[in-house]
Amino acid sequence: MKCRSCSSEKTELILDLGEQPWCNDFLSAERVGTEPKYPLRLNYCHDCELLQLDHTVPKETMFEDHCYLSGMTQTLKNHFYEVAEENIAQFNIQPGDLVVDIGGNDGTQLIQYQKQGIHNVLNIECAERVSQISRESGVPTETDYFNRDCVERRLGERSVKLYNASGVFFHLEELHSVIDGIQFSLREDGVLIVQFMYAGTMVEKLNFDTIYHEHLCYYTLRSLSNLLAPYGLEIFDAYYSEIHSGSVIAKICLSQSSLNSKTQRYLELLEKDKGYTLDAFKVFADTVRARQGSLRTLLEGIKTSNKTIYAYGAPAKGNTLLNYFGIDHTLVDKAVEINQMKIGNYLPQSHIPITEEREDDMPDYYLLLSHNFAEEIIKKNESVIAQGTKFIIPFPEVEIVGQ
Ligand SMILES: [Zn+2]
Repeated sequence: MKCRSCSSEKTELILDLGEQPWCNDFLSAERVGTEPKYPLRLNYCHDCELLQLDHTVPKETMFEDHCYLSGMTQTLKNHFYEVAEENIAQFNIQPGDLVVDIGGNDGTQLIQYQKQGIHNVLNIECAERVSQISRESGVPTETDYFNRDCVERRLGERSVKLYNASGVFFHLEELHSVIDGIQFSLREDGVLIVQFMYAGTMVEKLNFDTIYHEHLCYYTLRSLSNLLAPYGLEIFDAYYSEIHSGSVIAKICLSQSSLNSKTQRYLELLEKDKGYTLDAFKVFADTVRARQGSLRTLLEGIKTSNKTIYAYGAPAKGNTLLNYFGIDHTLVDKAVEINQMKIGNYLPQSHIPITEEREDDMPDYYLLLSHNFAEEIIKKNESVIAQGTKFIIPFPEVEIVGQ
C-alpha cells in the first residue's frame, strides 16, 4: 500500500483483524445479514512511522448518517469546557476572533467557547442529522466535509484564530486537502488544536478496539509532526488526557509564528513518544492476537450457567471487539443504550439487538463496551451493582466489578 501521509511504499502489515462491517453500520431488522464487510488491517510506514489502515470505506458511506453524539456524556462536556477555558487564556482569544470546529459534531465543544464569551464560532460537520442538532443548540453550523475547497466556499476572506479538530484527524480520507485548507486560512498568530487517540496509549492499554474503519490513522507525536511538516506547521505544545481511553491534545502553529516555542510538557511527552516504535507495535499486535478467545471463553462459561449477559452501551468500537473475538447474539442477549438513534437496530455482524436501557430489566452481567467511560458508568450504576448485576470490563485486563 501507499502511505496516506508521505506516499511511501515502504509499509508493513502489523495486525489483521479480518473482514468486518464498518462499525457504525447499525442495522435495521431488514438489513440484518446483508451488511457489507471490508478488510480491517493495521499497517506501519517505515518512512514517516504512521500507523494506518490500508482499506478505505468511502467517507460518504461512513459519515453522512452517523449517529455518534459528543453531548451524550458528561465527561466529554466537562473536558471540552476545560479545553476551551485553557485555549482562551493561553492564546488570548477575543470575542471577535473566529473559532472553527472541524467535524464539530453536535456543537458540544463550541458551546463551551460560547459559554465563555466567544461567539464568532463555526461548526463544519458533514453529518446532516448531527449538524441539525448543533444548529438547534445555537451553534452556527455548515453541513459539509472540511477540505481546501470547503474553506474557500465557506470562509471566503475570513481567517481563523483557532481551529479545533477533536477526534476527527484520524478519520480523514482527504488528509492533505484538509491540512492544506487549514494552512490556507489560519491567521499568522492562529493555532490548530488537534485531539487524537494516542497510538502510545493504544499500545500501553491494549485498546485495539479503537481500530476501526472510521479511524484511518493512529498517531504518535512523531508521525503527526511528519505529516504537518510539509505544510510549514509545527507542534509547539501537547499534553496527555485520559479522554477516550487516552488521547493527546496537540497545539500547532505556523513554523514562523511567535507561538512556536516548545513547551516543557511537549518536550517531556516527545521523550516518551520515542518508545513507540515498530518493535512496540509488533509486541502490541502479538498480545492482541493472544487475547483472542479469552473473553469469549469467560462469556461462554457464564452463559452455560444460564446467566444473562447484556452489552452496556453500543459504541462503534464495541463492534471491533465483538467481531474480532467472535462474540455474537448467542452469547450477548442485547445491548442497552440511551442514544435514541441506535435503539431498535442491531449491531453489525454480531446481530445483537439494541434496546433502551431500563431499570426494570437488569441482566446478571453487563459487558461494558464503552470501557473508556468505565469510571463514570460504574459510579452511575452503584445501585444496579448493589442489586446484584456485575460489570465485565474487558480492558486492559478482563475485570469483573460487583463480585
Ligand atoms: Zn509514510
